[in-house]
Amino acid sequence: MISESSLTCEALLSEAVNRIQGDSPRLDAELLLSYVTGLGRTSFRAWPERQVTDHQAQQFFALVAERVSGQPIAYLLGQQEFWSLPLSVSASTLIPRPDTECLVEAALSLTLPENASVLDLGTGTGAIALALASERPSWQIMASDRIADAVELARANSTTLDLPITVVQSHWFDQLPDAQFDLLISNPPYIPARDHHLGEGDVRFEPSSALVAGDDGLDDIRLLVLQGQNWLHEGGWLLLEHGYDQGEAVRHLFAQTGWNKIETRKDYGGNERMTLARKPNSDESARGTHAQ
Ligand code: GLN
Repeated sequence: MISESSLTCEALLSEAVNRIQGDSPRLDAELLLSYVTGLGRTSFRAWPERQVTDHQAQQFFALVAERVSGQPIAYLLGQQEFWSLPLSVSASTLIPRPDTECLVEAALSLTLPENASVLDLGTGTGAIALALASERPSWQIMASDRIADAVELARANSTTLDLPITVVQSHWFDQLPDAQFDLLISNPPYIPARDHHLGEGDVRFEPSSALVAGDDGLDDIRLLVLQGQNWLHEGGWLLLEHGYDQGEAVRHLFAQTGWNKIETRKDYGGNERMTLARKPNSDESARGTHAQ
């Protein structure tokens, strides 16, 4: 343990780095010290000898102890950046992942009406809906979640960031207002119930309601693919994130249920991570019934 006379930022950081395991001990320590002191991370390098108070040191080491026990850094800070937006997070939602930004990029790449109506299903923090609102102010964006705490959190993020979206509490399509959309987008739970990843890293602390979807991880994706067309205008799109090894199964589900233009895209790590498909126009579905 370090003595009171050495309560400098640098002494605290090096002690924390010795304790914290994982990929980024220095970054984690700097983020926690910055959170406790209100000082910017760059100041720790510019002025390493700066003193902190006893109270700040105690708070800092309490957080370091939680980090050592595996608590995700985002939960300790109560914040995670997504699409350059600082989002409040809580233990009742998934922590937004960088790979989900690829879903946002894919949505922005579609040709949609100027005032497109969009629904983000299972929004959690509101990450996807808010990222889209920041890029397309003319879109009408709704977000839904089954969990009341998540609905509250997404609303709070919408207010703090001044990005207007409508957030409703609904289990998938069950309690939605009667409406049709141009785009349905979702990062649903997709991890198989007995997957070993559930025992590793941040996911140990995240709610299983946001992660797990039946024995093959496809329960929620199946529901969204089966019911999605009822909630879409003709020519509207459904865009789903899925596991790195689920691309083929998801394309198959879309193909079995009469979707068009089925396409899988990759994440930053080169894994198949999302699949999108289009609801046919009535003339397109009619064409399928004519002899060629
Ligand atoms: N991609 C996340 C993970 O594997 C899971 C997210 C999800 O289930 N939607 O950690």
